[in-house]
Amino acid sequence: MQSVLLHRAPWVVRVDGPAIADGAVAVRAGSIVGVGPAREMNKQYPGAPVREHEHCALTPPLINAHIHLELSHLHIPRCRQEVAGFTDWIAALLDLRQQLGATGAAVETAARRIMQVQHDSGVIAMGDIGNTDLGLRLSQEFPGALLPFREFLGRSPATRRTVREQLGREPDDKMFTAHAPYSTHAELIQSLKFRARRLNHPFPIHVAEPASEGDLLSRATGELYTFLRERGFLDDTYRPPAGIDNFGSVRYLHSLGVLDERTICVHCIHVSVEEVMILAETGARVCLCPGSNRYLQVGTAPAALFLRHGILPALGSDSLASNPELSIWREMRILQENAPDIDPARIFAMATLGGASALGLAGMYGTLAPGKSARFLAVPLTEKIGSAPELYEYLVTGNSEIQPAWVDA
Ligand SMILES: [Zn+2]
Repeated sequence: MQSVLLHRAPWVVRVDGPAIADGAVAVRAGSIVGVGPAREMNKQYPGAPVREHEHCALTPPLINAHIHLELSHLHIPRCRQEVAGFTDWIAALLDLRQQLGATGAAVETAARRIMQVQHDSGVIAMGDIGNTDLGLRLSQEFPGALLPFREFLGRSPATRRTVREQLGREPDDKMFTAHAPYSTHAELIQSLKFRARRLNHPFPIHVAEPASEGDLLSRATGELYTFLRERGFLDDTYRPPAGIDNFGSVRYLHSLGVLDERTICVHCIHVSVEEVMILAETGARVCLCPGSNRYLQVGTAPAALFLRHGILPALGSDSLASNPELSIWREMRILQENAPDIDPARIFAMATLGGASALGLAGMYGTLAPGKSARFLAVPLTEKIGSAPELYEYLVTGNSEIQPAWVDA
C-alpha cells in the first residue's frame, strides 16, 4: 500500500466545513484520506512526509458547469463592447458563425486553447455544450472531467423527425440535451430528457435567460417572439401552451415533466418565487452565468433566493461569444458584486461543490474530504489572511488574477 503524504498550508478550505488555519490534507494513492489541523494530521500519520505550501490556501478545484468550447472562435465581445439586447446578440452570433464557420481547424484550435486556459485556472470539470462532436473529442484530451453534451433545437415537424431518427441511431454513451424552451419544441425537449433520464446523465438546458422567453411562452408576444417569427423559426402555427396564464419557463418545463435532480437549469434569471420552490421541490439544479448575463444585459439571477430555498447553484462561464473572459474566478467576483449580501463562503461553494453536484461529480470533487480526488489547488495568498471571512473575501474577489498551482499527488 502506498504511504501517506501530508500537504500543509496556512489555510485549508474544505468547503463542507469551516476553513482550517494551519491545516493539512493527507493523501494516499490519488485520494484524500484525511483533512484537519496540521498538528492533528501529524499525530494521525506520524512520520508521514510533509509538503509545505507556504503562503497558500489549499482548496478543491473549480467546476465550470456551463461552457460552449465550440464557440471559442466567435469572440463577439472583442468586436462589440455591448449588444442592444438578447436578439441583437443572437443575430450577431449567427452572422459571425456564418462568416467564420462552425467547424474546422480554427474552431478546434480556439476550443483547445480555452480548454487549456480553463485547466490552468484551476478547473477540473466542465459541462460543455456543442452542436457537433468536437466536445466529445476534446473530452479525451482534457486532464479532468469534460462532460460533452450535444445540443439539439428546433420546432418544425421535420426537425423533430430528423432528431428522433438520429437519437435512435446514436450509441448510449453519448449525452444529448435541448437548447432552450424558446428554441426547442416541447416534444423534442421531452424526447431528449427522457433519453437522458434512461441513461442517467445530466441534462443542461438554458432556462429564462431573456425575459422575453416568458412572453413567448405565455402570450406569443415580445422581442424574442418577433425575432424568431422574422427569421422563420416560428411559423404561424405557434401558439402558447394552452390553459395556463402568466407562465414562466420553469413552470413550463415542470409541466413537461422534465425537471428532476439531473436537470441543470442554466441562467434562471427571470424566475418567480413559486418557480424557485418548484426547482427546490423537484431537486433540479441551477447554474448561474453572471459574466455572460452582464454582457448580454439580460438581468441578474436571484442568487440569494435560490440559497434561501436550499439550492446551491453551480457557476458557469458560458462562451466567449457572450462573455469577454472565461474564468470561474471572475464569475465569483461578478456574482459577489451583484449580490454583496451573500456570504463569500457560499459563493466559493457554488464554484466548487455546486458545480460538482450539478454535474454528478460530487463523489470525486467539490470539497476536500476523505475519499475525494487528491487533485486540488494551492492558491497563492499575496497578502496576510487573518481569518476565514478574510480568506473567502480574498478568494471570491481575486478575479482572474488568481493563478493557482495544481497539487497532484
Ligand atoms: Zn450557454
